[in-house]
Amino acid sequence: MAGTPLLTPAIVLGSLRYAESSRIVRLATREYGVQSAIAKGALRPRSRFGAALQLLSEGHAHLLPSRSSDLHTLVAFDLVATHSGLARNLERFGAASALAEVATRFVPPVANLALYDQLRHDVELIELAPPDAIRVVALRAMWRLIIELGLGPTVSRCVRDAVSLPAGAVALSLREGGFLCAACAGLGATTRLGPQDRADLVALLGSHLELPLLTDRQAAAHRRLLVRWIWEHLGDTSMPALESWSAARS
Ligand SMILES: [Zn+2]
Repeated sequence: MAGTPLLTPAIVLGSLRYAESSRIVRLATREYGVQSAIAKGALRPRSRFGAALQLLSEGHAHLLPSRSSDLHTLVAFDLVATHSGLARNLERFGAASALAEVATRFVPPVANLALYDQLRHDVELIELAPPDAIRVVALRAMWRLIIELGLGPTVSRCVRDAVSLPAGAVALSLREGGFLCAACAGLGATTRLGPQDRADLVALLGSHLELPLLTDRQAAAHRRLLVRWIWEHLGDTSMPALESWSAARS
């Protein structure tokens, strides 16, 4: 395998400086999941990478696989889109950074074409959404990523005994991963959502459903719920971009 770079569509999820002039990048790749790679010389003024390795840049990565470690070598990155609309707007950038952070931490290094295509599409949606829709587009993008990771909440059946749920069931068990029927809701800790909040959550989770309209306060509550969900199901680690997005006022 060594000596033959693999070519795959990829999105830059993050990067950090390495030694004098290099960068280590985290890439969401279409064929190999999330991978780390060193871009040697990327910080030199006339680097062949130019400005291609900015956060959320999209392109084709030429990856030389390492035989001895998880750190591969990024030989080249053919830029397709920089998504510069994200960098020009704080709300878009904050949401996309949070999405990138969650993907970096939790997407495994294995192929998941649907997840990659969804992520790519969602970055674009966050970049292009009308200003008053950024918040709901971002919430849906986050939930879609969680669903693609197999950790979305159950909404149509009780998560404990699989009883079919009425539309008004409002008791959510974070730990168990979904809504509970009335009989189960009395046993164990639940988070109670108002009927409107539940309907809005269901709309955010269903890609085919119309996006809900959320006030600042409702959107903030949905972001907090989502962060608690991530902590519960993915791990309570430090996620500065996620926390900063969650704490935003609008
Ligand atoms: Zn039940």
